[in-house]
Amino acid sequence: MVVRGSTVGGTPDRVATGVPATAAGGPPPEIPGSAFHQPAASTFDTAPIVGIDEALRLDAAAGDPGTARAAQARAHEAAAEVLADRGDWRRAYQHLRAAMALVHLGDTPPVHVPEQLRREVDRLRRERAEAREQSRRDSLTATWNRRYLDERLSTLRDGSSDTVCVALVDVDHFKLVNDTYGHAVGDAVLRTLVGLMRAEIDARVPDGFCARYGGEEFALVLPRPADADAVALCESIRARIEAHDWSAVAAELRVTASVGLACLDPEDAGTTCDGLLDHVDELLYVAKRTGRNAVAYRDEAGQVRLAGPASGRRGVGAVARAVTGTARSGRPVD
Ligand code: GH3
Ligand code: MG
Ligand code: MG
Repeated sequence: MVVRGSTVGGTPDRVATGVPATAAGGPPPEIPGSAFHQPAASTFDTAPIVGIDEALRLDAAAGDPGTARAAQARAHEAAAEVLADRGDWRRAYQHLRAAMALVHLGDTPPVHVPEQLRREVDRLRRERAEAREQSRRDSLTATWNRRYLDERLSTLRDGSSDTVCVALVDVDHFKLVNDTYGHAVGDAVLRTLVGLMRAEIDARVPDGFCARYGGEEFALVLPRPADADAVALCESIRARIEAHDWSAVAAELRVTASVGLACLDPEDAGTTCDGLLDHVDELLYVAKRTGRNAVAYRDEAGQVRLAGPASGRRGVGAVARAVTGTARSGRPVD
């Protein structure tokens, strides 16, 4: 078999394998009378294998999609072995995946996977999963990053009408922490803060998560919080940060945070979480402007409130009006 140059962006290459080459280039072959006119084998980004075309043409004549698929799988398997022999594990893996995909489409005979190739494929798969995970982690705090947050928010409500709550947590006067204690202490504060927030989330909303939104600001995503527990959870987080003994990080250090919280309810079915963050950001601003160290949210009537001990603060309505105009429900706030 001969491995030839890619029509899908790969670098042309050749490997002598004993089967004569068919015409190079051109679109992937079609299997007449089969449901697989665009076979899975032709959709991945790697150099196509000449023998595949040949095998497909021969077996397609039989008019049996299962037979054609089996031939296609065998051709990919052979290509994987050739590439593996050359140490081209990445493309060997791609061909093997194509073979596996074909096998899973129907009653195609199982693909034989040599042990060495299986081990390398496993390693590649692990490396890919690790690289994917790393690209979605924040390097300082090891929590999820903005990329992961955006991905999750864009799909979180797909096909679901469950309530989703999103909070933004911003450390109060963090610049002062850096200026007073140094950047390294500031970094340690952020790491500790993430630990505190995650402990609360894990205990109360196991499928919730925390992501670094940027700088000293973090997003908390709380799918399906039990009843109206999102406010209580955010207030617990705020209180836990305030009550934490920060002396292990720096002597006489005190840390507080402000929080904005908003939810999409079942009646918002069909709407995505896009845009929700803008609303949460406004509420965070209300918490900041009314004295910090507080959780701002809207009650069922659409009025902006502060949770817990901050609930008695004056002027919340006026600040909310200035920041957000009218309530989301259309009613004026306070
Ligand atoms: P406010 O209460 O209004 O939020 O005040 P603030 O001082 O927290 O907000 P400001 O935006 O003025 O300052 C944020 C600071 O956070 C400035 C920036 O240097 C610091 N910061 C951002 N990312 C990091 C980081 O990764 N490590 C450290 N140590 N500091 C950071
Ligand atoms: Mg801040
Ligand atoms: Mg900030």
